[in-house]
Parts: sequence; C-alpha cells; structure tokens
Amino acid sequence: TTGRKPLVAGNWKMNFDHLEATYFVQKLAWTLRDARFDYRDCEVALFPSFTSIRSVQVLVEADDLKIRYGAQNVSVTNQGAFTGDISADMLSRLGCSYVIVGHSERRKYHPEDDANIVDQVRAVLAADMTPILCVGESFEERRQGIELDFAVGQVRDVTRDLNEAEAARLIVAYEPVWAIGTGMVATAEAAQDAAQAIREGLAAQFGAKVSDGVRILYGGSVTSRNAGELIAMSDVDGFLVGGASLDVDEMARICRLV
Ligand code: PEP
Repeated sequence: TTGRKPLVAGNWKMNFDHLEATYFVQKLAWTLRDARFDYRDCEVALFPSFTSIRSVQVLVEADDLKIRYGAQNVSVTNQGAFTGDISADMLSRLGCSYVIVGHSERRKYHPEDDANIVDQVRAVLAADMTPILCVGESFEERRQGIELDFAVGQVRDVTRDLNEAEAARLIVAYEPVWAIGTGMVATAEAAQDAAQAIREGLAAQFGAKVSDGVRILYGGSVTSRNAGELIAMSDVDGFLVGGASLDVDEMARICRLV
C-alpha cells in the first residue's frame, strides 16, 4: 500500500433499513473511537441502500463522524423521465464520497454492460465523487487460467477513453466472482498478482504516476481472519467487504487490521 491510504468499504447490499443503518454507523463509530482508531491511517466507508443514505448523512454531520459513505449504484443520466433511477448529483448532494460501479451482482441481475459502466464512471466523476470500479473473473476464467488478462481487460474496457486526471481519481476493486459471498477467499498471493497486473495495466495506459496512486481493493469473502495477510500484500490497498460488513464488531476488527 506504499503511499496510498487504505480504504475499508462495507457494501451492505440490500440489507438494513434506515434505523438499522444509523444504529450500525453509531456503533461502528463508538467501537472505533474506543479502540483509538486513527482515520488518518485508513479510510472507512459504508454503502447503505438508497433509502438509508439521508439518515446516515444526518447522523454523520450531526456527530461530525469521520466515517464516509456512498451508494451501490447510480443512473447514467442526470435528470428527467427515468422512473426509479437516482442521479449522481442527488448522491453528491447527500454527501456521498463514493459510488460502487459495475459490481458483479449488478452486471448479473441488471443489463449493465461495459458501455453503461463507462457512463456511470463518467457520471460519478462529473459529480465530484469517486467511482469504485469492480472487476474480477468468474470461476470459468479462473479454470482456463486467464483470470489476470480478464480482470485487466475489464479495467481497460471501462477506462480506455478516460484522460489521466480522470483515471487518477478511480478506485478499482478486484473481486473474483467465485469468491463473492461464498466463503472462498483468494489467496493473498492471488490477490496480489491480480492487483499488480491491474496496476501494470493502468501504468501502460496512463503512466506510472497515475497507476502508483490508484487504490486497488480486494473483495470476496473478506473477514477478520484473512484481512491481515491480504493487506500485507504490496498492491492491495484495502477491501470491499460484503457479508462481514453486516457485523459491526467484525467490520471494526477488519478496519483495525488495515
Ligand atoms: C461484495 O459483494 O462486494 C463482496 C465482496 O461480498 P462478500 O464479502 O460477502 O464476499
């Protein structure tokens, strides 16, 4: 993580209503405060459902909490006749710092292709937030031994038209699909190999200055039992945590390991 500030991001997916969300945020803040957690060493971000973001914002502002938050998805358009969609401007006005883009569950259950994901990245950047771009191979690509090329190719397909300044603002989450929600975590070496390959791909596209600064997270069955060895890897700059982020003590333990 040389020179890059690590990030622990908790993706709550479709869990917690606004009362549970605010209770969780308060409890995490207290737990980390009691542990004298220093947010200057590691950023902590939570990704509630759209319906809870406003409640989290009110709490974070009222208590001046250092925990950041963001959204799990965003519309590619800014306003208009798009029933049910939420725009990047709406999220940025709620104090969101980040938006998860291209999560494998969105790619699977919704018609999100690379073109759509590119537009989401652009919308998030235009609204002065940070996109967390999710990539990662399925079990089939891993079986064929093409997982590194696959993940690097996914990043390239989404970023090919960005300029250096835009690319420098990205966060990439390497999330092998076979590891998401399965309890099967990538080995630290495999996570490092993928993160390194993604960084080298970014260096080839945008130069070393950009690629050295981009944070690359690992995601897929991260818990406090495996976070320590994963974060020791030089190109792994933090985590996107799903299941374990629903347990406040577990989330606090992971933050403290980073
Ligand atoms: C995720 O959904 O981004 C994720 C990594 O989930 P889990 O930690 O549950 O595997």
